[in-house]
Amino acid sequence: MENTTTKAGKVSKLLSQITESATLAMARMSRELAQQGHQVISLSLGEPDFNTPDFIKDAAKAAIDNNITHYPPVNGFLDVRQAISKKFERDNGLHYSAEQIVISTGAKQALANAILALIEEGDEVLMPSPFWVSYSEIVKIAGGTPVEILAKVENDFKVTPHQLEEAINERTKLIIYSSPCNPTGSVYSREELEVFANIIQKHEGLYVISDEIYEHINFSGKTASIGAIGNMIERTITVNGVSKAFAMTGWRIGYIGAPKWIADACTKMQGQITSGANTIGQMATKAAAEADPKEVQFMIDVFKKRRDLVYGLLKEIPNIKCNLPEGAFYFFPDVSAYFGKKDGDIVIKDATDLSMYMLRKELVAVVTGEAFGDSNCIRISYAASEETLIEALRRIKAALAALN
Ligand code: PMP
Ligand code: GLU
Repeated sequence: MENTTTKAGKVSKLLSQITESATLAMARMSRELAQQGHQVISLSLGEPDFNTPDFIKDAAKAAIDNNITHYPPVNGFLDVRQAISKKFERDNGLHYSAEQIVISTGAKQALANAILALIEEGDEVLMPSPFWVSYSEIVKIAGGTPVEILAKVENDFKVTPHQLEEAINERTKLIIYSSPCNPTGSVYSREELEVFANIIQKHEGLYVISDEIYEHINFSGKTASIGAIGNMIERTITVNGVSKAFAMTGWRIGYIGAPKWIADACTKMQGQITSGANTIGQMATKAAAEADPKEVQFMIDVFKKRRDLVYGLLKEIPNIKCNLPEGAFYFFPDVSAYFGKKDGDIVIKDATDLSMYMLRKELVAVVTGEAFGDSNCIRISYAASEETLIEALRRIKAALAALN
């Protein structure tokens, strides 16, 4: 029988206000084209192409054999949180005790917990832009207002202290950024963060989410955590996880270190949504947290080589502007010189048109910069083999050359 109520087939108002994750959407489209038999190259999803190191897989196997398969505590096993606490101390100079750590289902849930726990209607959340796609949407889910502070390619995609100061008002509750940054690869130095910390500390009730998921994929050799500066630990939620540096995207484990009251709030939130993160992944994460970061240096070296390769190839394409990223595994070139150009009946208005055009014309998937707050750019992930990257960049060049 036909459902005649107006509620039939209708999603919530909240859902209709948020957009599908552009990274995941592009990955889905390239997967669908590949299933239809097309030779698609996908540089859309930010995911290392390495396998999880054996010592981590061994820890997971041991967890299964030891029947660590029951409900864990909501905030995570104590010994895993202790290992993460030591890792924060060792790598970042961050003093978070085990009680201040919450382990979640990916860094994405860690971020969502923190934003949902802190933000309410009327709160503004500052996001140096370009920013990672999900920040703005999670803020909207929480009822807050994302406020972008635009940084341009000419400034290595970094916001200035003046821009930050100008953007803060009495409604500002939170600042979220990633460093190394997805999508630009930019890395804020300790000196730059000290200036930001001075500004932030002047405003009571202003908090920071420092997303450090790309911490180890940093070619500058210098990492800096804002939570390690002055009294910033009292205001900083440091997000990290194992997805990127340890090639563990599918294990779905991320975590935060935070002031205790925020960690408790995140635990309460998580307890009603997913409970504790999966036990086997937690034990694998313990092995990763305890390992010497040198264990994954070989991957970082490969990423650096690829970065240099792609940078050289991008420089050969006319009218593209890009920075030399110091970390993560993305390029975020400004391709606005191609807007307004045509290929037959197809007119390229913006980066979204351009990324769809590249996918259809040359079967190469990148992500529109619009989703990251800058519609002049596209995001290219170089987490792929050199051979794949050379072919992908040939295709990108060919697609752009066909526009006039
Ligand atoms: N933060 C940033 C900046 C990311 O790029 C990602 C995507 N990997 C996440 C958080 C989410 O990570 P996870 O896969 O662990 O949920
Ligand atoms: N964070 C990765 C990216 O930016 C994975 C996809 C996602 O979680 O959105 O591509």
